[in-house]
Amino acid sequence: MRVHNFSAGPAQLPLPVLERAAAELTDWRGIGMSVLEDSHRGKDFVACAAQTEAAFRRVAGLPDNYRVLFLAGGATGQFSAIPANLAARGATAAFINTGQWSAKAAKEAGRQGLNVVTIADESASRYTTTPDPASLIIPADAAYLHYTPNETIGGVEFPYIPDAGDTPIVADFSSTYLSRPIDFSRFGVVYGGAQKNLGPAGLAVVLVRDDLLDRARPDVPAIWDWRTMADKDSMLNTPPTFSVYLLGLILEWMEEQGGLAAIGAANEAKARSLYEAIDASDFYANPVEPRSRSWMNIPFTLADPALDADFLAGAARAGLANLKGHRSVGGMRASIYNAMGADGVAALIDYMAEFERTHA
Ligand code: PMP
Repeated sequence: MRVHNFSAGPAQLPLPVLERAAAELTDWRGIGMSVLEDSHRGKDFVACAAQTEAAFRRVAGLPDNYRVLFLAGGATGQFSAIPANLAARGATAAFINTGQWSAKAAKEAGRQGLNVVTIADESASRYTTTPDPASLIIPADAAYLHYTPNETIGGVEFPYIPDAGDTPIVADFSSTYLSRPIDFSRFGVVYGGAQKNLGPAGLAVVLVRDDLLDRARPDVPAIWDWRTMADKDSMLNTPPTFSVYLLGLILEWMEEQGGLAAIGAANEAKARSLYEAIDASDFYANPVEPRSRSWMNIPFTLADPALDADFLAGAARAGLANLKGHRSVGGMRASIYNAMGADGVAALIDYMAEFERTHA
């Protein structure tokens, strides 16, 4: 039996995608072997990678002046790649701190000798807010502005894209990638790990505006050099072939769902129903200010933390997996990415109501 998996990532994947991957695992495209076994230089995988990129561009509505890179190393690899590709040591970069992931990105930039200027810091609210857009003042010499549109741990999502003028915006979309229509032309660089909305862990999908490909430090390691990777179609070395293939299947599934407009509407409805259930109850609470509530990651606490273990045990019996909250926030967290159906969210809401009735 498949459970409803509320993990923050690696996360639930669409069942039809898993079934197709299983069916193709021993004989892919009639070549008598799986994609796992095929050469990345062979015509089938090269075609698969090109089709995956084309599908990504279609689904995302990506303008032509962006390169799409499929890189190993996850989002954390890009924490290292971003400063090395965009700024000399000692140069200034601006950061918005809305939680643990944006803080990690800033820390890595500092490790590489950048002058890290935090232009907004939401730690005083215990990361339950996003800054007022009018309060964001970007230093004139900043090489880029980095922020995290969706903080996976706090469940905080920006309700706006910052206005950075001519400063390129670099954004960690890991936990909100392709969850709703986005104007990618507002960004210089977009990156994220695939293991939430896009497929297997370990793969990062990186979008780089053409004019930002040639700012790397001369000593940037080749594996992290966006220009090199762009010139080699992300195949400087052996790429994560299975992950690229699976991303392609997920993008096909997304198109079958009606693309980002339909997926965004479904995600909004799922999130709204869960927030309404939490807000209507005195037993459950979500700490995030309403305008910054994530559609993807919804933390909530029980009135009495002593009931947490019972809640989780009952949830597991009801086929609702991985609801334990992050240790820094406590309580529960329901991650409801694209592949989580409305039925899974409804099952969670029913279980929460029943638990409240029997435990409040
Ligand atoms: N950024 C965000 C917003 C994340 O949620 C995560 C992983 N949960 C990361 C970065 C790190 O991703 P990875 O483990 O792929 O390096």
